[in-house]
Amino acid sequence: MTAEERAQIVVDLAAIRHNVARLREVAGVPVMVVVKADAYGHGMVPAARAAREAGATWLGVASLDEAVALRAAGDEGRLLAWLVVPGEDWAPAIAADVDVTAYDLDHLEAVAEAVAVTGRPARLQLKVDTGLSRGGARREEWAALVAAARAGEVAGTWRVTGIWSHLACSDEPEHPANARQEAAFREALAVADDAGLRPEVRHLANSAGALLLPSTRFDLVRCGLAAYGLDPAPGRLPAGVDLRPAMTVRARLALVKPIAAGDAVSYGHTWTAAAPTVVGLLPVGYAEGVPRAAGNRAEVTVAGRRAPVRGVVCMDQLVVDLGPEAAEHAGEDAVLIGPAPAPTAQEWAGWCDTISYEIVTRLGGRFARRHVDSAPASGTAEPTEPTTEPTTEMTTEPASVPTAVGEGGR
Ligand SMILES: *Cc1c(COP(=O)(O)O)cnc(C)c1O
Repeated sequence: MTAEERAQIVVDLAAIRHNVARLREVAGVPVMVVVKADAYGHGMVPAARAAREAGATWLGVASLDEAVALRAAGDEGRLLAWLVVPGEDWAPAIAADVDVTAYDLDHLEAVAEAVAVTGRPARLQLKVDTGLSRGGARREEWAALVAAARAGEVAGTWRVTGIWSHLACSDEPEHPANARQEAAFREALAVADDAGLRPEVRHLANSAGALLLPSTRFDLVRCGLAAYGLDPAPGRLPAGVDLRPAMTVRARLALVKPIAAGDAVSYGHTWTAAAPTVVGLLPVGYAEGVPRAAGNRAEVTVAGRRAPVRGVVCMDQLVVDLGPEAAEHAGEDAVLIGPAPAPTAQEWAGWCDTISYEIVTRLGGRFARRHVDSAPASGTAEPTEPTTEPTTEMTTEPASVPTAVGEGGR
């Protein structure tokens, strides 16, 4: 049996294209689709390709390695990276025409060294910390940073292509930090302008900012979560923004068996059957990124009916309650995340006291990930072949050519 038949993550590239197209319409400015962290668990290269097909002018990643991997996979569009560590070699990314981000003078020095090696001027963006207290220049350092960046631009070492910052509370549109950050950003832009910088793009908004805070859109919005069809501010999406979740997660029932009243389930016996029932065993666990915290809280669907997780989630497996009548479900798939009536990633986030970002990003392990296209482009574009890849090096055999997915087009 293939890994894919045991447990799979199915990503619909048509959903990603739909979401990116909707984000472009709603935001009214160019969109950078953020594909860091393996596109939030959706597969970086196929997700990036789908985003480009739907008109993503930019892609964004955290690390230089992610950017270089996208170039190696053939991506040629504008691409921004923003997270390096001291001593990291910037040259491969600069040689690959990646726009890199500097937070401070040390970064400028590292970029200048890389430019000396590659012999090619860098495309440089500057990040200012407007209140997240994460990456970016502190406001006290900003004037010195833009002055040095301008000097390097005059010297031909780089071109400053962008100035940007990141919001802390955009999923709470009424939070006063949003206006404070936007004002700080505008001040930082004015300082840069006074220093003679004329960036192509000024950008501040992530998905929630792009959708909920129009004044933060500037020249470009950086959208991650919403591109994958998940709501960055649950329950607050503007009417008419129909995002489609791209990810479906399923696992084959490995075993179905009756248990008696009084039988307890899984490590620690945290759940005991009050009445006879039938339980099903799913061959996925916290090694696959199914949160252990989902024990006794989460649900899956089997044959369109909700089945609660009983007991704690183990490393490789978990147990669901199929109800007393359920013996015929052996060998069927359980859907962990998918179209209704299956749970959403947001429901899992609620069960696990986290956000949907974490739920989808952490899924991997021995799940096989497969990309499908429920709406292949007619005409010029090549139809997308379903591709299957193990989410880790651990899968022991290559998955077979998959059959078409029935529920595409949600
Ligand atoms: C991850 C990230 C984003 C995307 O955020 P979403 O909320 O997923 O849209 C945008 N900008 C930066 C700097 C990020 O790190």
